[in-house]
Amino acid sequence: MRAAGIKPSLQRIAVLEYLCSRYNHPTADMIYAGLHPQMPTLSKTTVYNTLRLFCQAGLATSLSIDCQNQRFDGHLHPHHHFICTRCGKVADVPGQGKEAFPEWPGYEIERSEVSYFGICPDCRNEPDADNPHKK
Ligand SMILES: [Zn+2]
Ligand SMILES: [Zn+2]
Repeated sequence: MRAAGIKPSLQRIAVLEYLCSRYNHPTADMIYAGLHPQMPTLSKTTVYNTLRLFCQAGLATSLSIDCQNQRFDGHLHPHHHFICTRCGKVADVPGQGKEAFPEWPGYEIERSEVSYFGICPDCRNEPDADNPHKK
């Protein structure tokens, strides 16, 4: 964190640890809900501001999958995402993301973000999976 020019505080460290220890691509609300019980002084605004800071400093990325809830990823290696259209789970696609960028004169591509949509194993195994309206 210091290398990225961010002053580490307890709350910032907690947010970064949450991001890097999980693969659930949390929203700011999920991080807040996960940390608040141990950190009663943490506010939602702090979580939002911390996430914005991390993204600017290159410690995390925000995913443009869900236009209502911005999701964050603390895993910075190039990878693609799978989004379950039933439960909304976001998973990392294994062994992807290394393909060459297209040749495009004048453009320098820095990163790519590919999203696959489908049904995750949990939802496929649900007995009522045939009924998309059942929650
Ligand atoms: Zn699912
Ligand atoms: Zn990811």
